[in-house]
Amino acid sequence: MIDNIVKRYNKRFGPKVSLSTRFFYSSSYICLVGFLTNIALSLALKLPFAGTYIYILACFFIVFINLFVDNARTEKDRQDIILAFCVGVNIVFLPMLYLTSGGIHSAIPLYFIIGIVISILLLNGSRLVVVLTIEIIMYCTIFILSYIEPKTVTHFITIGDERFYIVALGCVLTGFAIGSVLRIMASRFEAERKKASNLVTKLEDLTTHDMLTGAYNRRFLISYIEDCIERVESGCLDSFSIIIYDLDHFKNVNDTYGHLTGDEVLKSFSNVLRSIMRSSDIVARYGGEEFIVVMPTANDVAAFRRAEQIRSKVETTTLSDDIKGRVTVSGGVATYDSSLTVEKLIEIADKNLYLAKEQGRNRIIGRNGEEPPVCYSIYS
Ligand code: GH3
Ligand code: MG
Ligand code: MG
Repeated sequence: MIDNIVKRYNKRFGPKVSLSTRFFYSSSYICLVGFLTNIALSLALKLPFAGTYIYILACFFIVFINLFVDNARTEKDRQDIILAFCVGVNIVFLPMLYLTSGGIHSAIPLYFIIGIVISILLLNGSRLVVVLTIEIIMYCTIFILSYIEPKTVTHFITIGDERFYIVALGCVLTGFAIGSVLRIMASRFEAERKKASNLVTKLEDLTTHDMLTGAYNRRFLISYIEDCIERVESGCLDSFSIIIYDLDHFKNVNDTYGHLTGDEVLKSFSNVLRSIMRSSDIVARYGGEEFIVVMPTANDVAAFRRAEQIRSKVETTTLSDDIKGRVTVSGGVATYDSSLTVEKLIEIADKNLYLAKEQGRNRIIGRNGEEPPVCYSIYS
């Protein structure tokens, strides 16, 4: 039983249902509740006027339209039936109810507001223009008609003090209807906004990060270095340095322990890099087993110290439980000075890395010119 209700609810209001169909169901239920309440009120007030029969007819019409929409095969069929609903309720039943329920003294003028809101929400394009135009002309015409010729309304019923109950009910129902529509719109909008913002976050992550290690990718790295250069050139940043790292004999790791272990080592190495850097630094995977750390504000001495700190940490860290012995890393440092481009800066760091490999690996080389600073000579 409850399963059945949930199934029906999802068929009409579930996330896959189009917004206009959801609006149709909520609008038709609101109309049905409104018409039934009016019937109950007119019976309670002992006002069995001609309008009561029109209300009953309108209720049957809405139930049938609901059945048709439930069984519509295509979206186009559904839209055609929704058009019939708007025409039936707004252009046929509401004007008839106005004439038979007391005209301006009844609550029907308030329901005209709901009729216009429903048309605007449910219809699109030329259908909306045509239906809305007919509705407005129709409502204005019967307003004028009942003013010029009051008998057109009083012929059916003359409403006395009961009008206060009827208008009060109309106000409540109109507020309830418009409030419900706004609530549906707001909740759908919020759900869509959350979905879009999650997608944007995921997309940003995909376009800026390396899938395997979670470090930034090469594209982000280049744009970040370009940004640092711009900041130095505009005087916002004193200086910045980069370190390029390359795992030593990594091919041996793959050949001896397999690619999966190799991947695990890459991930662990990336984690070590990220655990040591400052919040303003970034780590990016430059190539297969090459990583670059960018350190805004770091001069050559500070960058060398940080590079060395990372190298010694790697030397003493188990990057994979499978591996016997230690994995080591070599690095090359380069510090920006004006006239360097991104490519040139990376080239300098890469040359230093090459020197580190040449001099026996597991070491850092950092010199932009011919003469290394004193602290660079710790390996000699
Ligand atoms: P060197 O000390 O001179 O750097 O020696 P090396 O063996 O590390 O250098 P080489 O460039 O010859 O080998 C790099 C290896 O990195 C080869 C390649 O299979 C491996 N590699 C590159 N990308 C990945 C990856 O995503 N996963 C794994 N497991 N291995 C990778
Ligand atoms: Mg390499
Ligand atoms: Mg290598």
